[in-house]
Amino acid sequence: MPRMTQRRTGVMRHAAGKGLIWTSAALGLFVLALMIWVAHQQALTRSFQGLHDRGQNTLNLAESTLQGQLERFERLPELLADQRVIRSLLLAPRDPDLIMAANTYLRDAAALLGASDLYVMYRDGETLAASNFDQPHSFVGGNFAFRPYFFEAMAGGQGRFYALGTTSNKRGYYFGAAIDVAGQRLGVMVLKVDVDDLENAWASEDLRIIVTDPEDIIFLSNRPDWLFHAFGALTPDRMARTQETRRYANADLGEIDVQTRTHRAGFQLLSGHGQDAVASEYLVVKSHMPKADWTVQVLLPSRMARAQAAATVALGLLAAGLLGLMALIIWQRRRQLALRLEMEQAAKDDLEQQVALRTGQLRAANMALEEEVTERRATEAQLRKTQSELIQAGKLAALGQMSAALSHEFNQPLGAARNYAENAQLFLEQDRRVEAQGNITRILGMIDRMTRISRHLRNFARKPNKQLRAVALGDAITEAQELLGWRLRKTGVTLERDLGPQPLQVVAGPVRLQQVLVNLISNAIDAVEGAEDKRLHLRARVMGDRVQVSLRDHGPGVAEGLQGRIFDPFFSTKEVGKGLGLGLSISYNIMRDFGGALSVANHPQGGAVFTLDLAAAQPASIEAAE
Ligand code: ADP
Repeated sequence: MPRMTQRRTGVMRHAAGKGLIWTSAALGLFVLALMIWVAHQQALTRSFQGLHDRGQNTLNLAESTLQGQLERFERLPELLADQRVIRSLLLAPRDPDLIMAANTYLRDAAALLGASDLYVMYRDGETLAASNFDQPHSFVGGNFAFRPYFFEAMAGGQGRFYALGTTSNKRGYYFGAAIDVAGQRLGVMVLKVDVDDLENAWASEDLRIIVTDPEDIIFLSNRPDWLFHAFGALTPDRMARTQETRRYANADLGEIDVQTRTHRAGFQLLSGHGQDAVASEYLVVKSHMPKADWTVQVLLPSRMARAQAAATVALGLLAAGLLGLMALIIWQRRRQLALRLEMEQAAKDDLEQQVALRTGQLRAANMALEEEVTERRATEAQLRKTQSELIQAGKLAALGQMSAALSHEFNQPLGAARNYAENAQLFLEQDRRVEAQGNITRILGMIDRMTRISRHLRNFARKPNKQLRAVALGDAITEAQELLGWRLRKTGVTLERDLGPQPLQVVAGPVRLQQVLVNLISNAIDAVEGAEDKRLHLRARVMGDRVQVSLRDHGPGVAEGLQGRIFDPFFSTKEVGKGLGLGLSISYNIMRDFGGALSVANHPQGGAVFTLDLAAAQPASIEAAE
């Protein structure tokens, strides 16, 4: 695919991905909003239901109070209409005595019954007598023919009305009953109940209890601000109908600008437009009382219910949010845990792999080591063999070196012995037996000496017995000294012995120890050959369970740098043919075989000091020879 196209496709895919994300986000938000809305509606319905129930209770209470109050007075006008004093008055309406009698009767009856006013109207509507005849606002003489309680009673025997008193300016409920005398309807008996007290019983802070007339004008209200106000505009026909009965007398009627609506769940709501009258929304519970022809309404502010619903939803959201957060935290924790476990597993796997690798390497190394060990063992065996051969070779070399001198050592006594023998022969011929005897004794001494030398040489050439035992140090030194006697004498070197007060025994092989001593003394002789001081000092001392033997010469000593190397096989500073470089190496190994050690140092006053460290042995186990 060409590069440009590829990029464009990538961009498009990116854009598509972005679009999808936006769409999902929008959809998610929409669903969330819908869910919140539904939850809010349900919460609101529940809150409204609670409010409604409360309103219904209040309404029931208010209604029954009103009902009871009305029922108390309902029948009284009929009873009063039947009274003689009333009936008489209607028959003679202008009779002052009768009027007076009726007036007093009505005043007493009103006081007794608890009615606000009692009065008798003539059939033309004029008030003939009244309980308040002696009050400033007496009804007597007033014509209330326009009031429904009058004309209804005149027409049907009974009439009811509630209104603001035109004379008293007090709200009341009027019961009218027709007064029939001798089959003639002569007037109406009226009882007015004061309703102001009813309102007072409804005192309540938050809710409103109102009673509205068929024109929707508020007649009773537990709060005075809405009294004589109409819900909605007071249209001319509404006004006209009200004027007809003069229900509100001369009172100014106001309007309350409200809107009513029904909530989704069926609750009636009433709300204003922010004016003083209705600043908030109310839930309305109402009931029509057909007898009184009024509607009792309880208005409950919905603010709290709405707040409660909102709070419920908010709480729900909070709880859901918290739950979500918790779930997120738990998810995150689990993810982290899983990740950690994964990492640990990976680390473990890695470690196992490494261990496996290392084990493999180790196994390989081990095998290599084993091979090496086997090889070393073979080499060691070879070395041992070579070493013992070399010891032998060393001995032979020493023997060879010695042979020239030995031949001299043997020839000289042989020649002398021959002379002595010839002389002895001559002495015997001359019968000089004593002199002959003396010569023969000398010959024998020479033979003894040669025998001794030859015995040492034989021992030296033989492979040593590997067994260790107690060896008299003094004897070993003497033998070595004897072996080297001819060299000492030839070079003029003297060996000074200092072996301490007690004869010393050491754990060693006598021949090998002698060989070591021969080597050391021989080297010392070489070292002091050209020196002025040709003394050698051989000293031995017991140190606890060890015996230390040191040989000091007055030669050049061993240079510091060479001290570690002189014990190596074939290390020699001597001219070719003279030194094999085996003496010290063999001696070193022999000492090791004895469980001892051989070391070198330079004496502070010059010359080398070779020290043998040997285990001390018990004197009882000494054996003279191998
Ligand atoms: P070789 O005597 O055949 O050379 P050795 O093993 O006996 O072999 O000695 C190794 C070397 O140690 C000698 O070549 C010499 O340099 C040094 N050496 C040994 N003994 C002495 C000594 N007493 N003084 C100085 N150097 C010595």
